[in-house]
Amino acid sequence: MVTDWTPDSWRDFEARQLPIYPDNDKLDKALDQLSSYPPLILGSEARLLKEKLADVAKGKAFVVQGGDCAESFRDFSAESVRATLSALLWMDAVVSYASGKPVVRIGRIAGQFAKPRSSNMEEKDGVSLPSYRGDNVNDISFTEEARLPDPDRLLAGHAQSAITLNLIRAYTQAGDDKWEYAFNGLHDFVNSRSWADDSWRGLVAEMGDAFRFAQSCGGFGNGYAAPCFTSHEALHLPYEEAMVRSDCDYGLDYATSGHFLWIGDRTRFEGSAHVEFLRGVDNPIGLKCGPNLEADELLRLLDVLDPSREAGRITLITRYGADKIEKHLPTLVRAVKAEGRPVAWICDPMHGNGTTTSEGQKTRPFERILDEVKGFFAVHQAEGTYAGGIHLEMTGLDVTECIGGSAGLSEEDLKRRYMTHCDPRLSRDQALEMAFQVADLF
Ligand code: PEP
Ligand code: MN
Repeated sequence: MVTDWTPDSWRDFEARQLPIYPDNDKLDKALDQLSSYPPLILGSEARLLKEKLADVAKGKAFVVQGGDCAESFRDFSAESVRATLSALLWMDAVVSYASGKPVVRIGRIAGQFAKPRSSNMEEKDGVSLPSYRGDNVNDISFTEEARLPDPDRLLAGHAQSAITLNLIRAYTQAGDDKWEYAFNGLHDFVNSRSWADDSWRGLVAEMGDAFRFAQSCGGFGNGYAAPCFTSHEALHLPYEEAMVRSDCDYGLDYATSGHFLWIGDRTRFEGSAHVEFLRGVDNPIGLKCGPNLEADELLRLLDVLDPSREAGRITLITRYGADKIEKHLPTLVRAVKAEGRPVAWICDPMHGNGTTTSEGQKTRPFERILDEVKGFFAVHQAEGTYAGGIHLEMTGLDVTECIGGSAGLSEEDLKRRYMTHCDPRLSRDQALEMAFQVADLF
């Protein structure tokens, strides 16, 4: 039971990374409008996801979470949504086949707009302007006008989230998430990439045989995969507050902006407004754990966020960097295990592995990303705990943002299709390669 909490109780705590609006009346109007809307997701859906994440905490399922660093208004299309959903589904097929465990698919989608920034200002050619904070706050163009926070962007972000959710649900109903579709896509993928490893072709051929056998026995039911859930960083607290709805049958409050919400590494300190807000909603929630999170602080945060020790409630998303994970992760894992806390552990191998090219472009080397995933599996194996999933910044589109991988993307390639609004994402091919690599780890 959550005590002394209201959707706005976070306002008495320290809120970092929130935009300062020039016009508060306009902000209040936008928030009033949002408060009057129906929920984007239902409490029953959040509870279903929590049950699935409880299986992850128990070592019985695996999370594949992925999508844009920042969703954008400009690059939004049916094609981009469908491409990301397909990539997640294909990854699900590879990993669930290899691991023998169901995959819980979660998009960083339908709400992943607001971004925390390391600096309030951005400098370019001697000009200093407020940083870009995500499309639901301001515009990425480097002009003074574009960088001014505009509350109407919250309404636009909400509308895009609703349209995206509508597409996700429609594609699901239309059969786009049938296993048959995934297997056919994977078959084409491994047979059309000269650099695909022979072991991947073998795995896909085996999956095809297994699939046909199951189908002929009627063992696959209607052939649909489980639903794809939505997630984003619960950063923009005024927006999140406006989207809280009560589920009267259960007497519980839900953040109805998405199924799974996480607290970022910059806002998960003790006494944080973000922690206060998420404490009171019944959704499954994530906590990003970076190199400066000490074990005792984590345990105190868990006491606040999950006092009843409910499996599925907390997913710890670790993000250290390939060179740091084996030093930091064991300490947290041991502390959490000693307390008997039922958390799911998943690996974000993106945020600790950023580099900059000689030309100043932000990128991430695929090999370092993969090294962190391998380190994550190795630590959990050594500690007797369960490596429960991966959290990727990725897209189903053919972008060139991260270097490396079997297709050998070079720094020169980054000039071709570098489209992200924030951090560099794995391309569809690199995301699928990651799925085959994870399959190998099982
Ligand atoms: C993110 O997931 O986009 C992000 C900002 O991550 P972190 O909070 O781990 O830095
Ligand atoms: Mn990011």
